[in-house]
Amino acid sequence: MAKNSEPNFYESVQRNFDKAARHTNLPEGLLEQIKVCNAVYYMQFPVKVGNHYQVIEAFRVQHSHHRHPTKGGIRFSQKVSQEEVMALAALMTYKCAIVDVPFGGAKGGVKISPRDYTPGQLERITRRYTTELVRKNFIGPAIDVPAPDYGTGAREMAWILDTYSALKGGDIDASACVTGKPVTQNGIRGREEATGRGVFYGIREVLNDKGLLKRMGLEPGTEGKTMAIQGLGNVGYYTGKISQEEGGFKIISVAEYEGAIYCKNGIDIDALVAHRKKTGSILDFPGAVNMEQRKQTLEVACDVLVPAALENQIRDDNVKKVKAKIIAEAANGPVTASAAEYLLKKGCVIIPDMYLNAGGVTVSYFEWLKNLSHMRFGRMEKRFDQNRYLNLVNLIERETGRSISDKEKSFITKGADEIDLVRSGLEETMVTAYHQIREVMKRKQKIEDLRTAAFVNALGKISSDYINMGVFP
Ligand code: NAD
Repeated sequence: MAKNSEPNFYESVQRNFDKAARHTNLPEGLLEQIKVCNAVYYMQFPVKVGNHYQVIEAFRVQHSHHRHPTKGGIRFSQKVSQEEVMALAALMTYKCAIVDVPFGGAKGGVKISPRDYTPGQLERITRRYTTELVRKNFIGPAIDVPAPDYGTGAREMAWILDTYSALKGGDIDASACVTGKPVTQNGIRGREEATGRGVFYGIREVLNDKGLLKRMGLEPGTEGKTMAIQGLGNVGYYTGKISQEEGGFKIISVAEYEGAIYCKNGIDIDALVAHRKKTGSILDFPGAVNMEQRKQTLEVACDVLVPAALENQIRDDNVKKVKAKIIAEAANGPVTASAAEYLLKKGCVIIPDMYLNAGGVTVSYFEWLKNLSHMRFGRMEKRFDQNRYLNLVNLIERETGRSISDKEKSFITKGADEIDLVRSGLEETMVTAYHQIREVMKRKQKIEDLRTAAFVNALGKISSDYINMGVFP
């Protein structure tokens, strides 16, 4: 690849890695070991579709074995390729390090368009893919733990668990072989919303960061800020919903597969989802105008642009039309490395994917821990906390001679449920990781962008692991 030509997704990840590596003094061999993919499994298998057999191509890439298990979602998309899965697996390694989740990175891909298959056919494909992973020892609670990604969700994860359990009878930890499962099948409350909620926390941190905001001429705070979202799937939907409900954002444009809409007064995300369910499209949403092309959402003037669909959406051929002040990379790799260089020069802040969408893997980590402990979070301490708070409130009431309403009392004395603990753990993780990244920028004045700082932070942690293992003395 010529130095200034537009890199593909994998090349973008590598280019960003190299840029960050120059800010470290790690030995070349160690950097190379961190950068490469440790294991790539390419498979082709037949699945009966209608009256004929179709050969399906699929991948699982384990990028880094410096920690076990490896972890990363499974993507169902017609555009899946080995390089794409390698790029996504590499991002998982850096992501886990940034949020202190003790896994190596991995990713899976099945080259199909889910829209073209019935649920029964998708089930056969998912089960066969899982069987292939089991055969090659590419899945297991201590080996490699998949999760949802583009085109997959809790339903597919339930099929994976069922197939794995059937083949591995007697494994008491079988439910930890995959995360993102339905709550009724050993999943965890808060996993479905986790990536979008984490995206919201990350954006909120940036909007509270006066040092960064100065560059953009933005006032601190989320209330009333405008947002445009590309992709209303798992990540885009929850980012929009939570940003609107908890952050007071005004969502002025949304793009989906079928087109894009704009409304300067704001779009209610739940109403839009209900409209899409009813009509099959986000278009013709009451109060909004249809845009000519779906890609125009990326070009809307707004405070925060959230690409939440796929990689390479903002690239050399459209980057000059992007007017957002903050690009929040909810998707993986939505901005190419060369487009990012242009945006950074212009003063845009890019919140990098490997930090911003790490909420999914963070809560997947909680789910994995829950599965291994065979116990729901909060079960041991909820009543204990509740009784302690109640005794305290009763004591204060007695001593002051004043009493509070039952509603106030139950709010103050409530012990934490699983969902409360998951959200609290996620918020803590996203806030702490952001400040670690900013610390790197303060320590290394030459680093001007969050992505390079996030990478440097990840490289420090991963290299320490290798050194502690004695691989690189
Ligand atoms: P999803 O399949 O639930 O949703 C993606 C949506 O984007 C779909 O509704 C699709 O129709 C839409 N879309 C596709 N191309 C589009 C286009 N050109 N314009 C507008 N909309 C388009 O997938 P997801 O799980 O939300 O994943 C989205 C991105 O977030 C991916 O890059 C994925 O790797 C990343 N991600 C997902 C998770 C997770 O927990 N699901 C975690 C981290 C990162």
